Amino acid sequence: MAAKNVLIVYAHQSAASFNAAVKKAAEEAFKAQGCDVVVSDLYAMKFKATATEDDVTGGIKNPEHFCYGEETMTAWQEGRLSPDIVAEQKKLKDADLVIFQFPMYWFTMPAIMKGWIDRVLTKGFAFSPEKPYSEGIFKNKKAMLSFTTNSHETMFSASGINGDINVTLWPIQNGILHFCGFQVLPPQIFWAPAYVPQEARASMLETWTGRLQGLLNEAPLSFAPCDSFDLEKGFQMKVDVQEKHSGSPYGLTVGHHLGKPLPPNSQMKAGV
Ligand SMILES: Cc1cc2nc3c(=O)[nH]c(=O)nc-3n(C[C@H](O)[C@H](O)[C@H](O)COP(=O)(O)OP(=O)(O)OC[C@H]3O[C@@H](n4cnc5c(N)ncnc54)[C@H](O)[C@@H]3O)c2cc1C
Repeated sequence: MAAKNVLIVYAHQSAASFNAAVKKAAEEAFKAQGCDVVVSDLYAMKFKATATEDDVTGGIKNPEHFCYGEETMTAWQEGRLSPDIVAEQKKLKDADLVIFQFPMYWFTMPAIMKGWIDRVLTKGFAFSPEKPYSEGIFKNKKAMLSFTTNSHETMFSASGINGDINVTLWPIQNGILHFCGFQVLPPQIFWAPAYVPQEARASMLETWTGRLQGLLNEAPLSFAPCDSFDLEKGFQMKVDVQEKHSGSPYGLTVGHHLGKPLPPNSQMKAGV
């Protein structure tokens, strides 16, 4: 296997945290495989989380009505984005695999990481409305979520108090990563590390280290391909695709459930 470039986008405030240990294990495992590993340590970098006019240098095109998406796309085209965004975009451009490492905050990622997403994934650079999802700009790259929770796994199930984790993952894995074209690898979830014995945490790290040996060759999650939808009809799912799926007991994806039960674990396991 050729050496790969791995970017770890990391959001934790403490070097003594379990997230730090997980991140360190990934760095070591990829380096041992001959990969180049770059870490964006967002809190250490004091990464700016807010999408504002300051992200554009050299003047705003429409100061009366500032439109972040349009202004930053133009700034990207003209090489006028702020240096911190340009630096992250260079790392992302070079990366074959991007790992987002974070503690779950409010069912999603911490604000500083969402800020990275908002600011670095500029229209034109990271996504194009004309070529979304399976046609997306990063279709030759892989990405995955690796995160910790305070909740136990049972709490994030279809009958658990927090509901189905597949539903929680869908907006990030589909709406952000897959929308930009990334092949999304199944997530790595470390359930409630603060609430299990030390041996259980050691065992989680061991399992992660084992997975890291073959991660670059893993199959991605399944999503509905772009050509399943009809541009002329407001991107509705094509009738023949729906008919082809009519015999299945499950919906096509978490989002495209077609009024049926969700495909079990489709945001957790490849090939579902
Ligand atoms: C604003 C906010 C919102 C939140 N929202 C949610 C939510 O929606 N859902 C949810 O489930 N949780 C939520 N949480 C909880 C949060 O997800 C957890 O606190 C976090 O995931 C725990 O991970 P950590 O790395 O911070 O753990 P830590 O507390 O840093 O570590 C856990 C344990 O691992 C130990 N440890 C560190 N390194 C190692 C090592 N190398 N080997 C073995 N053990 C080690 C530590 O000493 C500690 O005992 C939220 C928290 C906040 C602050």
